[in-house]
Amino acid sequence: MGRAFVYVILGGGVAAGYAALEFTKKGVSPGELCIISEETTFSAFKSAVMPASELGIIVLKVHNEFDSYGSREYVPPYERPALTKGYLLPEAPARLPSFHTCVGANEERLTPKWYKEHGIELVLGTRVKSVDVRRKTLLTAVGETISYNILIIATGARALKLEEFGVSGSDAENVCYLRDLADANRVVDVIQSYAGGNAVVIGGGYIGMECAASLVTNRINVTMVFPEAHCMARLFTPKIASYYEGYYNSKGVQFVKGTVLSSFDIDHNGKVTAVNLRDGSRLPADMVVVGIGIRPNTSLFEGQLTLEKGGIKVNGRMQTSNNSVYAVGDVAAFPVKLFGETRRLEHVDSARKTAKHAVGAIMEPEKTDEFDYLPFFYSRVFTFSWQFYGDNAGEVVHFGDYSGKTIGAYWISKGQLVGSFLEGGTKEDYEALAKTTRLKPAIDDITELETQGLGFALTV
Ligand code: FAD
Ligand code: NDP
Repeated sequence: MGRAFVYVILGGGVAAGYAALEFTKKGVSPGELCIISEETTFSAFKSAVMPASELGIIVLKVHNEFDSYGSREYVPPYERPALTKGYLLPEAPARLPSFHTCVGANEERLTPKWYKEHGIELVLGTRVKSVDVRRKTLLTAVGETISYNILIIATGARALKLEEFGVSGSDAENVCYLRDLADANRVVDVIQSYAGGNAVVIGGGYIGMECAASLVTNRINVTMVFPEAHCMARLFTPKIASYYEGYYNSKGVQFVKGTVLSSFDIDHNGKVTAVNLRDGSRLPADMVVVGIGIRPNTSLFEGQLTLEKGGIKVNGRMQTSNNSVYAVGDVAAFPVKLFGETRRLEHVDSARKTAKHAVGAIMEPEKTDEFDYLPFFYSRVFTFSWQFYGDNAGEVVHFGDYSGKTIGAYWISKGQLVGSFLEGGTKEDYEALAKTTRLKPAIDDITELETQGLGFALTV
């Protein structure tokens, strides 16, 4: 027994939301599309204050595992980037339904009502535990078999756990990860419990930097610990990193670099009280936030689909090694034409655009070309806002005023400009940077490029 759909999206995150919107634009009929997602969060029952439909979540009254009353909230797709930014603000924090997809791209906001009106079946709070791509079926954790003609895999990724690096203690009540709404609610609870306290942030990547900024805004004292010589080591040059670290320092953030966590001190209540580092030092802690990278959720497809770069390999139409199965978002390894190689990106813009492209390839194959994507990453912390386009390979040319508000860099590889970074630009500056990077102009004189700085992109 089970249900059958023409199209099934497995996963209910960013890519799923953008795919759903695109399906409706391309004329999907009611009853043809289903989204299956396991995301839930448990919280104090709120519908006495506001009806669940207005909160933009689907609420079911339940007992939780600790036998207290509350609500299990089944969450339709939302803009995940909000969780490290607006969601953690001490005043007027962002809450659903304000950031359901697809508001991040200035498109329609898809509330539960929207899915209902479009005849899109939301199977929420439901984990898919196996998939048979030969039979075109999925089996859910509650034992339902759902069949499809076309499957879009949008399972995203999971946060890496400290245990995978040989450290135990992730389940302590004041240790937080941040991947989904349930995690974000925990971070908010822990922040409120330890106002004015000490936080140790493990990891100097995106989660680490964005959470540290939000914690400081909440008047928490922050120490960041990471193994590299500077923050955001996968993207930033030492000079760019030093610019941001200087500001974080001025806000009271301490950096402990070149070492990793070795163990936690945990009290008799199961709370972490201090973090011990491999360099022998010990940091007192009221709370810990861990952001040490992710792993794409590919396990359902291992042995069934071709994998590459840790993700599911797709062609320029987002189609996997099985013709009826597409993959999008964090889990997809797709050909980046501009650089002639397959890449897996972990950013929201590529999730949105790969999703849209897959739906085009499914619904209007003759009108859909090979995906041609310019990698784009961004972040916003404190009053900073930066954007990056392309590839951070080769020689770097910095420009701008590194003691001021606008800084930038170009990356030059094999005589061509392949990557660009800008903090504090205008909309026009960023558009010029994106356009220039996509053109990959030949650079004969690096000194001249340095002198021209942003002006180079503005005149190309
Ligand atoms: P996700 O959004 O992770 O969605 C995956 C979905 O699949 C989830 O709903 C999950 O529950 C579901 N799922 C997985 N396995 C199963 C299963 N077996 N059964 C049922 N459901 C399943 N990127 C930026 O470019 N800029 C930012 O500022 C930014 N901020 C971020 C902040 C945070 C806190 C996080 C975690 C990420 C941020 N990112 C940002 C990255 C961006 O959010 C991701 O690249 C994007 O969410 C990927 O979309 P996705 O749909 O592929 O995966
Ligand atoms: P990142 O890969 O950005 O950063 C992980 C950091 O943790 C790196 O500094 C890494 O060092 C370090 N690290 C790895 N292992 C350890 C360890 N054992 N102890 C201490 N540090 C360690 O991942 P995040 O967790 O920060 O982010 C998760 C995902 O969320 C990513 O996909 C990211 O793209 C996404 N995200 C994106 C945002 C954006 O685009 N603005 C914002 C927030 C999240 P090393 O490099 O040496 O491994």
